[in-house]
Amino acid sequence: MIDVHDGPRLDALRSRLRLDPHRLKRLRVQLLKNHRGIERALDELPSELRAEFAAQVRFHHLELVQHRDSEIDGATKLVFRTDDDLRIETVILRARTGRTALCVSSQVGCGVGCDFCATGRLGARRNLTRGEVLDQVVQANTRLASEGRAVRNLVFMGMGEPLHNEAVLHEALESLTQTHCFDLAPAHICVSTVGIPAAMVRLAQRFPRVRLALSLHSARQDVRSRLIPLARHHDLDELRSAVAEVTRVQGQPIMLEHLLLDGLNDGAEDLEALVAWIGDLPVHINLIPYNPIPDAPLLKSTPKPRREAFANELKSRGFRVTLRYSLGADVTAACGQLVRDENRREARR
Ligand code: SAH
Ligand code: SF4
Repeated sequence: MIDVHDGPRLDALRSRLRLDPHRLKRLRVQLLKNHRGIERALDELPSELRAEFAAQVRFHHLELVQHRDSEIDGATKLVFRTDDDLRIETVILRARTGRTALCVSSQVGCGVGCDFCATGRLGARRNLTRGEVLDQVVQANTRLASEGRAVRNLVFMGMGEPLHNEAVLHEALESLTQTHCFDLAPAHICVSTVGIPAAMVRLAQRFPRVRLALSLHSARQDVRSRLIPLARHHDLDELRSAVAEVTRVQGQPIMLEHLLLDGLNDGAEDLEALVAWIGDLPVHINLIPYNPIPDAPLLKSTPKPRREAFANELKSRGFRVTLRYSLGADVTAACGQLVRDENRREARR
């Protein structure tokens, strides 16, 4: 079968079928950009070619097995099954402004193993394919079409470390931003990484307008290494040089994500280290409350008043700061809570 996202192979099929290139282009636009579904997209082809085309092309790469709507905040968690019977999750975030964001996964599990993250506790299972990454967007859009909504913003903040699946990430970003494919604005896409310096720079060079978010969490080497095992391999100096290069290449600030964990990385010393590490780098700081996970019973979120005080102190030093409020906690769709249970069962089998 030919992947519907594989331009060159699709084009070869088109030529074998003697199909007009404009027809194929319209089919993909209907499917990927206008969210019309497979039937409607196939209508773009001459009727005698539809069955043969459909028999040779793979449109979906994931099977939707569950969806849970949050009762409190308009988040929907979609659970997908892969061909090899693993589970991945995607979260639809409906903002009050009417805009819709999608949080997509890039891997099953994650090899980085951060202490505070449910996905990390699963370990690395495998990278998603390009088809699996993009089908999360296709299927979310199909669901959203009935509400008159469409994905406008995309964040790679679901399961996995996107820069550990770099080739697929780059291919997916190409499709997502091409006008005759998904046609999303690069500035509306954000890739969140735990911090792999060389890959961050490569991403910035190839996609200068795609936003980058760095999960810093601490500017103290010992604290960061305790929270994020990978931090031992890429120290804070190396990371800072990469951020300097990324912001130079992109000419836009980078987002620094900082989880606030009670007593671990939220004190005066932590704040001073952060300010010193940032120096004159153009950054936007996003402070994140910790969403508890069962595997890390000793970690606690910094209480809200202290999160606000931390934010205010940074603001008074001239930084741009936002406090993130996680959506979807009641359907375990909040940051760091994404699925493990089914995958764990699968691993035991
Ligand atoms: N691997 C990438 C992207 C996926 S994680 C990264 O680490 O950046 C997306 C975000 O969720 C990261 O900022 C991560 O630190 C955060 N996160 C993970 N576990 C969390 C938890 N339990 N509570 C709140 N945020 C969490
Ligand atoms: Fe992986 Fe990101 Fe979770 Fe760390 S926070 S384990 S890098 S998904």
